[in-house]
Parts: sequence; C-alpha cells; structure tokens
Amino acid sequence: MLKIVSKDVLAPLTLIYTYSTEPLFSQYFVSPQISIEDRLNIIMNILRKTSDPQSELSTDIRYVVILYLSLSNKLYLANQEQVDLLTQYPMVEHNNPVMKYARPFIRACEVAMPDLDKDTNLAYPSLFWEKISIMTECELFMVQFEEEERDTDQYIQCLWDIYSYLNELFIKTSPLDNKMLVLLGVATYSFKRIKEVSDHKLSNTIVGRSSVRVLIENYIMIKYLLKNEVSREEIWKEFQEYGIGQFKLIVERSKAQAPVRENSHVDYKYLDILVKDFKDEYFLDMDTRYFDKKSIREKADIVDEKELYGLYYDYDSAFEHGLWGAIRESSLLKCDNPLHHYHCVPDINDEQNLKSVWPDCMMVMNKTISLLDEIYGIPDVLLGGVLDFEKE
Ligand SMILES: [Zn+2]
Repeated sequence: MLKIVSKDVLAPLTLIYTYSTEPLFSQYFVSPQISIEDRLNIIMNILRKTSDPQSELSTDIRYVVILYLSLSNKLYLANQEQVDLLTQYPMVEHNNPVMKYARPFIRACEVAMPDLDKDTNLAYPSLFWEKISIMTECELFMVQFEEEERDTDQYIQCLWDIYSYLNELFIKTSPLDNKMLVLLGVATYSFKRIKEVSDHKLSNTIVGRSSVRVLIENYIMIKYLLKNEVSREEIWKEFQEYGIGQFKLIVERSKAQAPVRENSHVDYKYLDILVKDFKDEYFLDMDTRYFDKKSIREKADIVDEKELYGLYYDYDSAFEHGLWGAIRESSLLKCDNPLHHYHCVPDINDEQNLKSVWPDCMMVMNKTISLLDEIYGIPDVLLGGVLDFEKE
C-alpha cells in the first residue's frame, strides 16, 4: 500500500489504532512529525466534509467501495452504460455533466446491496467511534429566540377592564343566570392563565405553551356550548356536572386509598366540600359521564376551528404529554462536533428558550372576548383596547 500512497495519508489514524492495539499498522504508518492535535484536526475535517451522505466526497468514498465489490465479482453491472459510468468516475471532475448520472448511480449501487455490511469487520469502525468520540469536547449550540418584549401588563390591564365590566353586568343584572356564570367562569379561567404568562414572564417557556393550549380549549368549549344550547337547554348545567363529577370521582378514590399524603397538592377534603356545595346548590344527583364523549378535536371540527386545533393545540399538547418532539425542541442541545456524530445533549442548564407564545395568547384571548361581545355587547372603547394590541 505504501508504494501507492504516502504514509501521511493514513498516519492520522494512528491516533486511534495505536501500537498497543494494532502494532503492525502503527509501525508502518506512524508519522512523528504530525502532532496529535494535527492528526485529530485532519480526521475532524474529513468527517465534517463527509457528514452529508450526498456530498461529492461522500460519493467518492462510496465509489471506492463499489469499485472493490465490482472487481471482486460481488457486484454485477447490468449493462455497458453502467460499466462506462464506473470506469469514467475517477477520471472526470465533479462539474462534468457525466457526474449528474454517475453520482446517483454510485449511491444507488450501495442501496442495492443490502448485505454490504455482512462481511465488514465492525470492530474497526466501532473502535474508531469509541475512541474518537471521547478525544474532543462537545460543541453545543442552541437556537436563541427573542425574549418577549411587548408590554404584556398593559394588555392585561385593558383585558381586566373588560372583565370588570362583564362582572358588574353579571352581578347587577343577572346574578342567577347560569349560562352567564359558565361563560364568564370559563373566560375567567382563560384570563387567569394569560395573566400568569404576563405576571411571571412565561412567554418563552414550556408552561407558556400549556397556557396557549388551555386558552384554545376554553375558547373551543365556549363556542361548542353556545352552538349546542339551542337544542339542549340544560347544556350549561351538564358542563358543570361533568367537571364537578370528575372531582367527585377523585374524592372517592382518595377515600378508598386512605390515608392520603397530607402535603400533596391535591386537597381532597376541600374538593369534597366543593362537590357537596355544588350538589346542595342544584339539588341533584351527580352525573359523572363524559361530557358529550367528544374529543377536543371533534369539538374544534364542529365549531369550525380546525386550524386552531391543527396548527397550535396539537403542537402544545406535545409539550403537555412530554412527547419526543417537544423534548427535542425544549430540553436537548445539539452538538456540532462531527467526531460526536452530531448527537444531542440534555439542556440541564436551561439555556434553550422557546419562541414567545404571547402573540398567540392574545390572538386566542381576543377571539374569546369577541365571542363574549357578540352575546353581551362590550363597549367599543374597551373592546378596542385589547384588539389594538394584536395589530401592533
Ligand atoms: Zn458532543
């Protein structure tokens, strides 16, 4: 081999295949004038250039393998045209028009040989990656999204003015209107969630995504209830029963499993009071069926909000359920070191932020407010206050 190539070509590999493991190789190829650092840099450079499997250099390396297989009768070419492509390959430059056919042909040959790895001595590549990967440090990088700079407090203040108006309307004119209580209750839950995002500066966080998800779900639910109230007068009470019924189930489970942990975030005794309070108020037996047995996806479909579900809610759900896409985006960093196979590393120092949820929070909140406006008529001066923010 040394008659054909200079020993410097393979000398960098003596960094991996040392005298203790490969004495023969090391003896012939070690080159003391190439420092350890240079050997490492040469290998790193080549790996960077070949990290794209479609690159010219990657295809050149494949060519050597394909040629070897062909010469050793392990690969049979179908026609003269293919033989010509293989013969011409090392003779012409990559910008030659012939290469437009030759490169895909080489890559296709590799795909057509599923047993290519069968006779490969995997000990060598395994040892290579094992050793080279620990020789250098990780080169971590993250995508930095702009921190939310909008005046979220001011938006929340304008929003509060609207809620304050609606609250007055409820207390003064219809304190016993159950429909209004449900609508304002759901909307207020959305208000508290968006206020949390603003107060605690959660726009660029994982929990911010959870907030958008709830805002969307609440908005779709309100729309769904309104759409169905014509045919189901009791829908407002059914919605309440479904939710309180779920609390009742949890309370019952806690009684069956007593004693429960005192410092848990779930206060079972308090939940029991809430359940009994609801029962006393409405004098009825609890109904614990699923509310309408329809998923949020079906409800979104029914109220023509497919886009909110498909483009936002589903994405936010990935974060809520801890699916890998969400984990990859929020909790892992990419390493740019080719010697490390471009692996991922856990982001334990919380360096990776997320794109701000604030514009979407406002978008869904304003849809919710507009819906309430259709029913209760919010004064233009108040309504304009929140709608204008979204246009900025
Ligand atoms: Zn790394």
